[in-house]
Amino acid sequence: MAARAQDNQRRNGLDAVALVDDLLAQAIRAGASDVHFEPTADSLVVKFRLDGVLSPMESLPAAVADNVVSRLKVLGALLTYRNDIPQEGRLEISGASAEVVSDVRLAIFPTIHGQRAVVRLFYRRQDLLRLDQLGFAPPMERALQAIAAQNQGILLLTGPAGSGKSTTLAAILRHIVSTLPGKSIVSLEDPVEIRIEGVTQVPITPHGQMTFPTALRSLLRQDPQVLMIGEIRDAETARIAIEAGLTGHLLMSTMHSGAPAGALLRLLEMGIEPYQVTSSISAVVNQRLVRRLCEKCRRPAGDQYEAAGCDECLGTGFKGRVLIAEMVQLDSGLRKAILAKADMEELESLLRTKGHATIREDGRRLVEAGVTTQAELNRACGAGDAHAP
Ligand SMILES: [Zn+2]
Repeated sequence: MAARAQDNQRRNGLDAVALVDDLLAQAIRAGASDVHFEPTADSLVVKFRLDGVLSPMESLPAAVADNVVSRLKVLGALLTYRNDIPQEGRLEISGASAEVVSDVRLAIFPTIHGQRAVVRLFYRRQDLLRLDQLGFAPPMERALQAIAAQNQGILLLTGPAGSGKSTTLAAILRHIVSTLPGKSIVSLEDPVEIRIEGVTQVPITPHGQMTFPTALRSLLRQDPQVLMIGEIRDAETARIAIEAGLTGHLLMSTMHSGAPAGALLRLLEMGIEPYQVTSSISAVVNQRLVRRLCEKCRRPAGDQYEAAGCDECLGTGFKGRVLIAEMVQLDSGLRKAILAKADMEELESLLRTKGHATIREDGRRLVEAGVTTQAELNRACGAGDAHAP
């Protein structure tokens, strides 16, 4: 009873300090990446971003909205008396949470219903997953291991932001460090997200002196054997990367593309010659992350499982994420098609005739195993996304 009384008191806004503390501690315990405080006409809706998806957690009465946002602003050392301008700051977190999170950022934005606040949480724990723990289907994992052992060529990873590309690249680099000790490995990253023992990691400043092209050009004179470039965004980086891959370096990078064929065509659009693409690219891996069904509350639905929701998963029905992927390795058929300047449709129809398993087909194994749902697979892949360039 005492707990309920306290709960009511908290929700009536008598204690915005305790309410904010509670919500942030709960978000950190759940591993949320963001906490949104969204004002509506009659409430302040609190949402957590869990496993990449924003889920409503609770709705606070509008009467407490100002106190809650004010409390956040105090924690973030922002101007509490200014409600009409966007403000950004950092929150000081103390206690047990401080051991878990390394940085907490706050952004306030005025709206017609009052101030909207977003708290972004950065965690200390690092994803130290090994290549064999990422969840690649066994044939794909073996192919990646074989590529990691090569002395040249390019491995490209594609997928939208937040699809786990950095984690996969870090796992491959760690795999190389452990299986081929003594290799000289350098990575150029913007910013360095995951520290990797045994790899020389260089932070890139896209708007400063140390851009991807300048860093990459001087780096090639340092005689590295394995190179990781955070992202190929521009023609110049693409050109130097292809050159590196053709001249005795194993190069890995990411490109923003919804499909493997799209990434190959992107390179051509950037002015890379078809023969350079066909002779340098070893493989393109396209990946996404799907949420795992919460094992505590998932329930059977026909021959599959569906999400329910319990305390453990904060009512979302999901807990944690797992990777789905498709991989295209360049063979003679694909090389011929690229040299003949095939378009997206032709490349994809060629892949289909070769029996290429798409990312959705890879995801089906997880739906059938009850690890995730068809709806979640659709969400992660996006409607028609497989054909987006
Ligand atoms: Zn659950």
